[in-house]
Amino acid sequence: MTSTCAYHCRACGGHFTSLEAFDAHREGPAGGNRTCSFPESAELVELTGTCKISDPTTPSVAVTIYSTERAARARDYFGDTNVRQTASANAKPATAA
Ligand SMILES: [Zn+2]
Ligand SMILES: [Zn+2]
Repeated sequence: MTSTCAYHCRACGGHFTSLEAFDAHREGPAGGNRTCSFPESAELVELTGTCKISDPTTPSVAVTIYSTERAARARDYFGDTNVRQTASANAKPATAA
């Protein structure tokens, strides 16, 4: 399956399939001074696809495009909108004393 960059981040050059995915890599208060975070830490799944947004005359091929597919599944599984926090906590090595 080939994906297409639908939301291109001019700040960090990231490619995203949906506004939800784009939003997931932005941190900070809504309407405030939001900054880019690494998509890897935003529970996004990596896809490979094409971006025609960064340069319409010369589309970038085989670029990494981020989707919320995995995040959406995880949210369904946990039935909790707080899944990002839960998942990142689980990703850390268990260091409980
Ligand atoms: Zn960005
Ligand atoms: Zn793009």
